[in-house]
This record gives sequence, structure tokens and C-alpha cells, in this order.
Amino acid sequence: MTEAVSTQIQLVRRPQGWPVDEDFRTEKVAYGELAPGQIRVANTFLSVDPYMRGRMNDAESYIPPFELGKTMTGGAIGRVVASAADGFPVGAVVLHQYGWRDLVQEEAAGFTVVPEIPGVPLSLHLGILGMTGMTAYVGLTAIAGLNPGDTVFVSGAAGAVGTAVGQIAKLLGAGRVIGSAGSPEKVRLLTEKYGYDAAFNYKDAPVREQLAALAPEGVDVFFDNVGGDHLEAALDVMNREGRIAVCGAISVYNSTEKTPGPDNLSRIVQQSLTIKGFTLGGYLHLREEFGARMTEWFGQGAIAYDETIVDGVEHAVDAFLDMMRGKNTGKMVVRV
Ligand code: NDP
Repeated sequence: MTEAVSTQIQLVRRPQGWPVDEDFRTEKVAYGELAPGQIRVANTFLSVDPYMRGRMNDAESYIPPFELGKTMTGGAIGRVVASAADGFPVGAVVLHQYGWRDLVQEEAAGFTVVPEIPGVPLSLHLGILGMTGMTAYVGLTAIAGLNPGDTVFVSGAAGAVGTAVGQIAKLLGAGRVIGSAGSPEKVRLLTEKYGYDAAFNYKDAPVREQLAALAPEGVDVFFDNVGGDHLEAALDVMNREGRIAVCGAISVYNSTEKTPGPDNLSRIVQQSLTIKGFTLGGYLHLREEFGARMTEWFGQGAIAYDETIVDGVEHAVDAFLDMMRGKNTGKMVVRV
């Protein structure tokens, strides 16, 4: 196999507040002949995810910051176009973490072969069948200990994780499921397509008022993707022994100022609440369990999904920012 050129998006400056184009650059990187053990993969879809905003900062977290001058890493899926490694034939579909580039050439150990399912778009392995679907499942089961009949509230409900949470909660026997999202179209989809019993637009009126009106009998499980006003509103209405799975806090990811905490933390004591944060990386042992259940539900046609697709690796930054601004419904992916 001859040389090849890859278009890659690199982080060159740490964003202050909202990222801007100048924080990134597009580079052409040349790959030479394949070394023994390497494969070359043409990506078909790249993932853009909220956690990437945290990695753009030079701050200690559960994963190290992105390196300046290096290509943005992250979930991606593609096909092997050249191989010098056993078990990775040309044409195989592979998942990997090499991120925002159209072509990648690395040691085969960094890739996982994914069986192709006829009729199932490859992009779903970055969303409902992959990391975001599993996040929803883990949050509801291992973190929140969902019980049949529980009333569940989900913030960020129309996104990749949120659309999965509502449906999985129902499939696991939840009672009432309430969601919040940021547009009337999203709110309509939540009840019409994603199995939510009630939904509201958090931009219409204070979350506290809207949630209290829709949860007259309280909330047993809060799956939080947003934090801030959503967490405060949920604390107000949590039932005794309620569980809060803290999955994310996207309302503060681009903040430059420290944001004040909820004014009602005493509710944790009064209601004997459990609040537990999690990152999916700590629960990878549940991958098989999730895979088995999701495959079954998906095969039964019990899972709806949306994707918002942006074309072109050179638009990965736009896709990332659009997702952070709420222009996506379901999973945001870049099609290469
Ligand atoms: P989404 O597909 O949900 O996209 C992000 C959404 O966040 C936007 O569509 C937007 O929807 C919403 N949003 C943005 N700003 C605000 C705000 N200020 N207030 C309320 N909503 C806002 O992304 P993901 O599903 O990939 O991720 C959702 C959450 O889950 C994130 O917090 C992420 O960090 C977290 N996560 C955590 C994981 C873990 O292991 N703990 C793994 C994966 C994700 P809208 O139009 O409704 O505002």
C-alpha cells in the first residue's frame, strides 16, 4: 500500500469560554508504507461529544487534557482499507479513538472490529448502540437503581444520552417519565417518539415551576445531563430515598465564572437522597450486559433514534459547537 494523506483537526489553543475557530487548525498528515502490525482505516463517522469540552482545558480531570498541536482524539468508526495485521481484513468495520481525521494508520491493537448488522447504519455504534446508549443504561441501572414504577426525570432529554434514557427507563418498567429540552420541536418529539409521558421547554419558564407542575407526586430518579437550575429543581421534588445519577453538567461546560450551587442541598438530608456521579469508563464491565439487552430491544423495533449529521471532517468543530448549542436532536456525528 502506498503513501496516503489524512486531513486532521488539531487543537492549537485552549478555549476561553466558548471555543472559536482559532483554537483549532486543519492539518494534512502524510502516512508512509504500512509497518507490520499496522492497519489503515478510512473513517466513515466521527463522534463529537460534550466531554471533549472539558479535555480542551488544561485542568485535571478523569481523563487527561487534549495535547496542544495534536489531533483531536475521540470515538470514530471506519473501514480497513489496507492491512498488515492478522484479524483486520480489508473491508472490516472498526471502532477506535483516533478521532477527528478522515484517514488513520496505527497499530491494529488500537482498533476493535465491529460485526456489520445489515440495515443498521455504522454511525449508531457511536450513539444508541455504543457509548451514549450504554451511558443511559448504566446511569439508570448501576447508578440510579431504577425500580419498576419509579417516576423518572431526565434533563437534556432530546440529546444522544437523553433520548436513550427515556426509552430504556420505560423498557425497564419506569412509571412516569418526564423530560426537559430546549425547543418546542424537541419537547414534542420527547412525548411523540421517545416515550416520555410529559416534557417541557426549559427556556419557557423557570425549571423549578415547570417540573413541580409536571411531577405532582414527586420524582424517584433524576438522570441529570445539565446541572445548575435543573439539579436545583429536581432536589425540590425528589421523593424519599430518591436517587440522582449525575451524568453531566453541560450548562457549565463553557462557563468562565464559577457557578453557584443549588440553594436547597438540605433536601438531600430531609429526603435521604443518594447522589452519585459516574463516568462510563468505570462501568465497561457492563458492556456485554448492555449489548445483549440493547440488541434484543433494537431487534424488536423497541428503540427509536435520531441522528444529526454534519458532512466533512473539516466541519468537525462546527458540529461540536452546534451540538453544544443544542442544534442536534439525538446523536451528533460527522460523516466523512
Ligand atoms: P447531547 O446529544 O445531549 O447534546 C448536548 C445537548 O445539551 C444539546 O443538544 C442541548 O440541548 C443541551 N444543552 C446545551 N446547553 C444547555 C444548557 N445550558 N442547559 C440545558 N441543556 C443544554 O449530548 P450527549 O447526549 O452526548 O451528552 C449529554 C450529557 O451526558 C452531557 O452532559 C455529557 O457530558 C454527559 N455524558 C456523560 C457521560 C458519562 O460517562 N458520565 C458519557 C456521555 C455523555 P437543548 O436544545 O435541549 O438545550
